[in-house]
Amino acid sequence: MDFALSEEQSAIVEMARGFAEEELAPFAIEWDQNKHFPVDTLRKAAALGMAGIYVRDDVGGSALGRLDAVLIFEALARGCPSIAAYISIHTMVAAMIDRYGNKAQRQRWLPGLVTMETLASYCLTEPGSGSDAAALRTRAVRDGDDYVVSGQKQFISGAGASDVYVVMVRTGGDGPKGISALIVPAGTPGVSFGANERKMGWNAQPTRAVIFDNARIPVVNRLGEEGQGFRFAMAGLDGGRLNIAASALGGAQAAYEKSVAYMRERKAFGQALVDFQALQFRLADMKIGLEVARTFLWRAASALDQGAPEATNLCAMAKKFVTDEAFRIANEALQLHGGYGYLGEYGIEKIVRDLRVHQILEGTNEIMQLIIARSVVNGE
Ligand SMILES: Cc1cc2nc3c(=O)[nH]c(=O)nc-3n(C[C@H](O)[C@H](O)[C@H](O)COP(=O)(O)OP(=O)(O)OC[C@H]3O[C@@H](n4cnc5c(N)ncnc54)[C@H](O)[C@@H]3O)c2cc1C
Repeated sequence: MDFALSEEQSAIVEMARGFAEEELAPFAIEWDQNKHFPVDTLRKAAALGMAGIYVRDDVGGSALGRLDAVLIFEALARGCPSIAAYISIHTMVAAMIDRYGNKAQRQRWLPGLVTMETLASYCLTEPGSGSDAAALRTRAVRDGDDYVVSGQKQFISGAGASDVYVVMVRTGGDGPKGISALIVPAGTPGVSFGANERKMGWNAQPTRAVIFDNARIPVVNRLGEEGQGFRFAMAGLDGGRLNIAASALGGAQAAYEKSVAYMRERKAFGQALVDFQALQFRLADMKIGLEVARTFLWRAASALDQGAPEATNLCAMAKKFVTDEAFRIANEALQLHGGYGYLGEYGIEKIVRDLRVHQILEGTNEIMQLIIARSVVNGE
């Protein structure tokens, strides 16, 4: 067991950190305040290979692993967790098409996705089903060479701006086996979008409902066979959860570093904040939390890279542990900044707001407990 990064991995981290420092961090507060989705910046990240990290290289992907991905998303999130997380969702969709798409689908969709000339969204959640995703009701009825799709997806990251939507729909009976996955291009007649949601954080990317009103989607746009969609959606989430965790970790790391710097400057009772031992212990606990979270995240990512049987459980554990710990650390950083942490210009409250949703989406942290508890009860 070797926790040292390879030369190639160190170079990847350096590149992603440099990108975050130059292209994300200086603009993150402004994007948050103006609700600006910086598509040009996303394309610059893609040009460095960060949009198709584990997509195969015949279609322009970087053909890297899950461990490489968590390194990249942590580094990007130091600049802006919201942008890192959107790239993570986009990459998850690209990876689903890479893994489960046929040759024609891979050739048609992936070259644009890896450059982010086309952007992608993942459509599972509905107004009536979030955690209980297998209860989804968006219906796709076969009619000749098309499916006719009606229903609504809720909370879709990137919706309205994205060009490609991987949509989980019901083609069969109740439950997970009645679900299929369709690739839906934007601009399809019968597909429309709700208003951009007003959110606590993640303001640098849009979140909208996607509405299907008798939209005709060609059968050739189905990933795999009928009934396989839920399995694909869940498999996509294993890696997605690691990336969401990594994006939270990067935000927490940035908040911690801002705190140390601030506490060297800020004085109270005649000394720098950093000289109070009570506060040093708080920083020490934050540092321990970051290291433990990172080490465990790497362990879960390695298990997924190796196709280990316990990988799904480890990904769920990592998602819950890392996102809870990252939020705690970011919130602690806010406290250590005193009243200034509460002001927009310091960038700390933005990180806290951004990180809160990492505990909710791609499966809430209660659903992570449910996944783990199920395996405990089953004696696995
Ligand atoms: C900003 C944002 C972006 C998102 N992006 C996407 C996206 O791109 N694509 C997409 O498909 N979805 C997306 N989501 C949706 C997200 O995945 C869901 O919100 C999440 O899965 C929870 O579903 P819900 O909101 O319906 O909550 P519910 O399922 O109604 O849950 C409510 C509460 O009950 C708890 N709960 C539910 N069932 C159980 C149980 N069995 N045991 C214990 N506790 C339980 C939950 O943990 C939660 O605390 C996004 C959400 C947000 C806020």
